[in-house]
Amino acid sequence: MPTSSTSFEILPSNQPTADSIRDNILASPGFGKYFTDHMVNIRWTVNADWHGHQVRPYGPLTLDPAASVLHYGQEIFEGIKAYRHADGSVWTFRPEKNAERLRKSARRLALPELSDDDFIGSLKSLLAQDHAWVPAPQSDADECSLYLRPFMIATEAFLGVRPAHEVDYYVIASPAASYFKGGVSPVSIWLSSHYKRAAAGGTGFAKCGGNYAASLAAQKEAEAHGCGQVAFLDAAESKWIEELGGMNLFFVFKDGRLVTPRLTDTILEGVTRNSVLTLAKDMGLTPEERPISIDEWREGAASGEITEVFACGTAAVITPVGELVTENERIRVNGEGGCEVAMRIRKTLLDIQYGRSEDKHGWLTQL
Ligand code: PMP
Repeated sequence: MPTSSTSFEILPSNQPTADSIRDNILASPGFGKYFTDHMVNIRWTVNADWHGHQVRPYGPLTLDPAASVLHYGQEIFEGIKAYRHADGSVWTFRPEKNAERLRKSARRLALPELSDDDFIGSLKSLLAQDHAWVPAPQSDADECSLYLRPFMIATEAFLGVRPAHEVDYYVIASPAASYFKGGVSPVSIWLSSHYKRAAAGGTGFAKCGGNYAASLAAQKEAEAHGCGQVAFLDAAESKWIEELGGMNLFFVFKDGRLVTPRLTDTILEGVTRNSVLTLAKDMGLTPEERPISIDEWREGAASGEITEVFACGTAAVITPVGELVTENERIRVNGEGGCEVAMRIRKTLLDIQYGRSEDKHGWLTQL
């Protein structure tokens, strides 16, 4: 088993889940409901940097009620998956990108930065204990995985508003079924006209809990309109498409251009987005990162110049968008051509992640 340069103290669970119970869970895990037997913890204090690397039994945290995360929301997290290949080996996808993003989030939230070694080492050390929790796909259409959730919280018991002097990093893991049960189907997206996700100078580019808390009212609105996801516009002009609550957006043009909003400090840089840009070039498409307006979406969908729209992220990989719903209109996309380009990119990405095709960009790391 490969190890990181810092060794983790292993405190094995004395009540691990019975094999038969785990097998039942893995046969139908849903998403985010069940957790493996162990978790990682690394402590940080202002005077001692990162220390106390541990893999210990999964269980409730003991937090002082004055812990600053509970009051001021000094918290960041990541989302990444472990995939079981046909030969039984377990791999993850571009973990150094998640490590880099966690550091970017940390800088914005005035939290300490964790090294690649500690981040990737934490995933490897957890998987060394909980390897059996990575589900094995039963077919190429089975997109089951073990979802890994690294997160960092300010644990100092202090009510003053300043960066905490004590911080804890954890990793928990949760088996996940295919996102789409009956095969991939286009989703309806609600355009949030009132609520904004992020403003210039704010935390939109960081993966912090506050961004998600702020998106929930819009998510409720989406559900009330029969939509599963929310698209957000920029806060200054309400004109430019930014992203969904938990995914980045791409627009396929008739002439082979693949457009995605350019990165600003209001957009989260998805690892999937970055990978799609590379794969698109491999496939002979012309990727473009530039501002794209809601008017361009509306007009392009009407004229047929935009042939497909899709969303992308670790959880659902690539999701075709069927329509954009607003207070007074429905913009339909993915018309005549179906979602051929989205599905081709989707398959290419999944084949790499599940080890069914050559990893020519060197994106996989064995856990
Ligand atoms: N945007 C937001 C707001 C997200 O929460 C996510 C999921 N992490 C993404 C985009 C997609 O990122 P990734 O491809 O790294 O999962």
